[in-house]
Amino acid sequence: MKERALTLLITFSIVLTGCGIRSTSSNVLKSTRTIFAMDTIMDLTIYGSDEVLNECEETIHFLEKELSTTDENSQIFILNNKKTSLIEDNAASLIKSSISLCEKTNGALDISIYPIVKAWGFTTEEYKIPDNDTLRSLLTHVGYRNIQLTPAASSGDVLVSLDNDASIDLGSVAKGYTGDLLIRQLTDKGVQSALLNLGGNVQALGCKPDGAKWKIAIQDPDDLNQYLGSLEIANQAVITSGGYQRYFEEGGKRYHHIINPSTGHPADNGLISVTIVGDNGFYCDGLSTALFVMGLDKAIAFWREYQDFEAIFVSDDNMVYITAGLDGNFSLLAKKRLEVIK
Ligand code: AMP
Ligand code: MG
Repeated sequence: MKERALTLLITFSIVLTGCGIRSTSSNVLKSTRTIFAMDTIMDLTIYGSDEVLNECEETIHFLEKELSTTDENSQIFILNNKKTSLIEDNAASLIKSSISLCEKTNGALDISIYPIVKAWGFTTEEYKIPDNDTLRSLLTHVGYRNIQLTPAASSGDVLVSLDNDASIDLGSVAKGYTGDLLIRQLTDKGVQSALLNLGGNVQALGCKPDGAKWKIAIQDPDDLNQYLGSLEIANQAVITSGGYQRYFEEGGKRYHHIINPSTGHPADNGLISVTIVGDNGFYCDGLSTALFVMGLDKAIAFWREYQDFEAIFVSDDNMVYITAGLDGNFSLLAKKRLEVIK
């Protein structure tokens, strides 16, 4: 009977928090760290030792080197220059998953966008507006179908060939993938609670040590001193793409870093930010970029078709759209109108 009462109590706490069985001890060590990597500020908070944070920091710098388009020793840099290269380990797995997501999003996500991103100056911060002839000519090298994969016989490595003088840029998915790896690493080390903020890409492991969900704020794309709203999460990724995150201005017009692969120009369809909430950082990161490119109507149709994530869309007419699964969880803080998409 006593045993049954205990089971009931535990079951109740799982339902209440969505976090599973938690340590109730309030003296779990909290360690925090701020680092600069992947061109952004990252804040890591874990309930675990500083030593574990050291390992996380190593992972971040390792992946930064592996996945960079500009580091001459990175696998991606070498591939982009040689056009054929044996790609190992994390980069191989990320390229494979990314190509599937390029297909699933019908090319709104396209990791072969690199020549265009480079032409606008987003890789070097030497910004310029490429003329239409330049863009037209560069677009002939863009298309994820130019990326050919031949799996190596006895490992996860893969021989990647870039046809048609294509080049790869994993900037749309690298932080989400890194977050997933960190969460796995933390779990392996026995950490049950962590909140990783990789430059606006937030990933939570479990809940807070007291069993409450993490409350996170989402940036207002119209006013960087304010929040759009807040959300309570456990074991989830919340990943935002927005024109406000990287841009330059010329002639009174703003040019941002998320490119529509069919035009070669920054996506310009009325959306100013897209936040994706889901279980997997890589997937959320890829989708935040892709759905930003798609625009509201196609993005909603995509959500209705797959139903394996939730989203917050902010448009340039002061509207905020949230998908049904966030209703009751998202609190609007900005002066905008909210609509729930069903
Ligand atoms: P994110 O901030 O995750 O939306 O990723 C934006 C970054 O991904 C840009 O800085 C580019 O490096 C790259 N990128 C831009 N447009 C695309 C696109 N349509 N598909 C894939 N990657 C893109
Ligand atoms: Mg992304």
